[in-house]
Amino acid sequence: MIQLTSADTLTNAINKARTVKPRVRINHFGSYTVTNKQTGATYTVSCTKREGKRFALCSCKAGERGNACYHVAAAVAAHMQLAAERAALNF
Ligand SMILES: [Zn+2]
Repeated sequence: MIQLTSADTLTNAINKARTVKPRVRINHFGSYTVTNKQTGATYTVSCTKREGKRFALCSCKAGERGNACYHVAAAVAAHMQLAAERAALNF
């Protein structure tokens, strides 16, 4: 479980995501499947909010150890876009 405290938490992971350019598929709001197109490796990322804090969980080895991986960075980008779209529709 990775707590997303600030954008800095994900800086390195975001840079890696920009290089790898993984594919992100939305399973449902808060659940994403991230695929590395080069290797075909697929991981599941969950984004949750608890008591006002944001958390992300990735099924890869780094994510299980609590490290911010590029799968989380890619999924969080999709999650934030989806959240913004939902917020825009619910005013
Ligand atoms: Zn990961």
